[in-house]
Amino acid sequence: MASNRTLAILKPDCVRKGLIGEVITHIQKAGFKVVALKMTRLTAATAGGFYAVHSERPFYGELCEFMSSGACVPMVLEKENAVADFRKLIGATNPAEAADGTVRKLYADSVGENIVHGSDSDENAEIEASYFFPKSEIVANLA
Ligand code: ADP
Ligand code: MG
Repeated sequence: MASNRTLAILKPDCVRKGLIGEVITHIQKAGFKVVALKMTRLTAATAGGFYAVHSERPFYGELCEFMSSGACVPMVLEKENAVADFRKLIGATNPAEAADGTVRKLYADSVGENIVHGSDSDENAEIEASYFFPKSEIVANLA
């Protein structure tokens, strides 16, 4: 996958709060193009696989439980400098530390339930996108 893509997930708190449309609007207004999108529900095991890098962290169990607690909306987003620009748009992991105007500052309640995921590198963006989307479900390949 090209380095102008990132993998985002609208987390279960975003879906429960009825914020899918609002957050996607925010993302699109910032110049990101949605090139793949679905609604799904992770199992604790699937969530655990996605966040395997955090398996030794004290919050891992809580994270897997939360991410499998309801529907979520994974998306592949396209924009120049997508990974870094999306991390900037969503703000710090802890909404209390996130900059004004960021998605997490605007909508998140806590460091655990923080509305949205964004990949942290081009390499992980590609791995994470393939976790949810076969290449045939990315818009450039749908024609
Ligand atoms: P980010 O999502 O900003 O890349 P991390 O990769 O460090 O953050 O953590 C992954 C996810 O784990 C966070 O988005 C959040 O949902 C959860 N998390 C991180 N730190 C904590 C914590 N101290 N307590 C509870 N949950 C946390
Ligand atoms: Mg991360």
